[in-house]
Amino acid sequence: MTERRELTFEDVLRNAGVQEAQDRLRRLEPDPATLPGAVPPGREASPEPSPPEGGCGSGSCGCGKSAPSNTLMDKPMDRRRAIGTMLGALAVTTQAAGACAPTSLESAEGREAKRLKQEEFFKGNYRLMTPGEKGETVRRLERLAELRGQGDVSIRTDEALPNVMYGYAFNISKCKGFRNCVDACIEENNLDRASGDQYIRIFEKPDGESIDDLEHADATYGHEVPAEGHYYLGTQCFQCANPPCVYVCPVQATWQEPDGIVVVDYDWCIGCRYCIAACPYWARRFNWAEPEVPAEDLNPRQHYLGNRTRKKGVVEKCTFCIQRSREGRLPACAEACPTGARVFGNLLDPDSEIRWVLENKQVFRLKEDLGTEPRFWYFMD
Ligand code: SF4
Ligand code: SF4
Repeated sequence: MTERRELTFEDVLRNAGVQEAQDRLRRLEPDPATLPGAVPPGREASPEPSPPEGGCGSGSCGCGKSAPSNTLMDKPMDRRRAIGTMLGALAVTTQAAGACAPTSLESAEGREAKRLKQEEFFKGNYRLMTPGEKGETVRRLERLAELRGQGDVSIRTDEALPNVMYGYAFNISKCKGFRNCVDACIEENNLDRASGDQYIRIFEKPDGESIDDLEHADATYGHEVPAEGHYYLGTQCFQCANPPCVYVCPVQATWQEPDGIVVVDYDWCIGCRYCIAACPYWARRFNWAEPEVPAEDLNPRQHYLGNRTRKKGVVEKCTFCIQRSREGRLPACAEACPTGARVFGNLLDPDSEIRWVLENKQVFRLKEDLGTEPRFWYFMD
């Protein structure tokens, strides 16, 4: 009889491909010598700066007040943890020093914005917040938007509707590659205009080529469409029923809602990008820079878990336009499609169009063998 061995946590990570993803991310980590405050080889460290007036209260700015004992760095830790600890300490020091800096030159609005940002920084995970706390955070975010000159922004927190599970179907025969859906998504979801990031990609493929091979398909075509001898298909987050992106998140910043929409708490995400590595459909985007949306183009009708403005250093994704779908409206992409290639609806409603498609068309999904169970199907007439 063969001896059975208990699976270790490392085995599970390796089997799920997480180990490989972590290794890949580790290779992308910055060299500690390039981190802020590092002393270049051959140079001496610069003298300590004089403490700000009043001090920071923690001793970190040199104010003379008692500093907490540094036990963290005495613990054995790997490189990732050490870098994380250093960056965390740097952030706390910067924040404390900022709090100590003289504020007489600041406007009342500047001080208010700083206070609101600090309160936001210390809030909890959205999933664990009470309705009252959700209301508070939304009011802070709306006021911050006003202080930033973004106008009258309203952020909703609508919960999932009962007996609703969203699904999407894409008619390959009807898509002509116009990309109205891409533009509508960018506008509706307040996507960064500078990077040109998109949640939706429309791939152009030669007739007869399998849809499963998208690695070599062209999603950046710039010629007139439809091109003869080609077909088009769109991808975005498929709101998988078995979402690997959710399982790998080390801080539970991303999860699946009862209506099937996979969301991210953008204030809880630490930007580790494990979810990007885990998603087999290239559906998540990392903000390498502060997203830019001109105030006149900003969509002020927002949802906390959807199209509210995001920040640098977090991962974002399509939510089937949660701010619209939970109001009973179509996602912007489905509404904008001029050919009717997009079908969206409630999978639990036997009279919905999406159910009709699933029951009457031959449907298929991308990378079906992975077991991710996307709630996004393709079909042809
Ligand atoms: Fe997650 Fe990717 Fe599936 Fe969307 S498509 S739920 S990001 S694994
Ligand atoms: Fe979670 Fe954010 Fe890391 Fe993705 S990048 S795994 S959402 S913390």
